[in-house]
Amino acid sequence: MASGILSIDLDAICANWRALDRASAATVQTAAVVKADAYGLGVARVARALAQAGARRFFVALAEEGATLRQALGPGPEICVLSGHMAGDTDMIGDLDLVPMLNSLDQITRHLEALPGHAFGIQLDTGMNRLGMEPDDWAAVAAIVLEAGPQLLMSHLACADMPDAAQNAAQLATFRALTDGLGIPRSLSATGGILLGPDYHFDLTRPGIGLYGGLPFANAQRAVSLSLPVIQTRMVEAGEYVGYAMGWQAQASTHVATVAAGYADGLGRALSNKGRLWSGDVPCPILGRVSMDMIAVDITHLEGVPAALDVLGAQQSPDDLAEAAGTIGYEVLTSLGARYARRYQSGARG
Ligand SMILES: *Cc1c(COP(=O)(O)O)cnc(C)c1O
Repeated sequence: MASGILSIDLDAICANWRALDRASAATVQTAAVVKADAYGLGVARVARALAQAGARRFFVALAEEGATLRQALGPGPEICVLSGHMAGDTDMIGDLDLVPMLNSLDQITRHLEALPGHAFGIQLDTGMNRLGMEPDDWAAVAAIVLEAGPQLLMSHLACADMPDAAQNAAQLATFRALTDGLGIPRSLSATGGILLGPDYHFDLTRPGIGLYGGLPFANAQRAVSLSLPVIQTRMVEAGEYVGYAMGWQAQASTHVATVAAGYADGLGRALSNKGRLWSGDVPCPILGRVSMDMIAVDITHLEGVPAALDVLGAQQSPDDLAEAAGTIGYEVLTSLGARYARRYQSGARG
């Protein structure tokens, strides 16, 4: 088999959810964010494992993702849609019992007219200027909306992974000013906000990346490993080149392995001549340009030829790889390609 093997540790994901749940008081509900196919790891398997671990509320970006998730989970768990109630979403929201987080006057009107009595939440913008109602718009309709009985008032922090940023306290103050005393459950924090402490927890937290082992949850368990089979090896002599555009030149006789994954599998060209793969605990530098389906790797210093080299695993986290590629762990995970063979590990098989 030539495809890489992506191993997803469901027990580690559940352990991370429990750890983030313990980071807030017992009265604070901990949801699970599983948008973008559970950050690339497979929403059906991940969400079922988290539901077994005790997660009762899930967040997705789009109603379509909510429909897929409802199929995986069956009735019961709450599924919240961050993009709210868009034109064309009404049947999915109604039939599959999704809870839209309404972001604008248009969405509120659409929802209350199309599905009167159906659950909804409100997303407020407290300074990120991405999604959610502006304070002025909220002030204009709050009385009507509160009468209709929102089940959640939420907002999102722009700088939660930067604990020293003044923006965090500013958004917290704005959120309080908009929601204090209304008696509706509130949510402000994703992974980073949980780590900012209890002032940020309110009634519900919404971790995503921390579940999957990513920063800013530095104590997370590793949840992903990715191993690429070696297709071929060769000796490259001093003066010869490797890969497209003669991207790397041998200074001395070099043992080169070609492994089976490339930028089409989410290992971006920014890793050219930069990133490393691993043979056990021995790093092996990437040589020359990353191709669509292949990467050349220096294995001169290894004893023998390994059957496979690791891109993600004990030695290299998604955040480590992201640093080499000039991006963030979120992007590494959500870029993981469709060609890998996926193996799910869990003690409690289900
Ligand atoms: C993606 C997202 C989350 C989860 O964020 P993480 O940083 O991955 O924990 C929570 N809330 C909203 C609104 C989001 O867009």
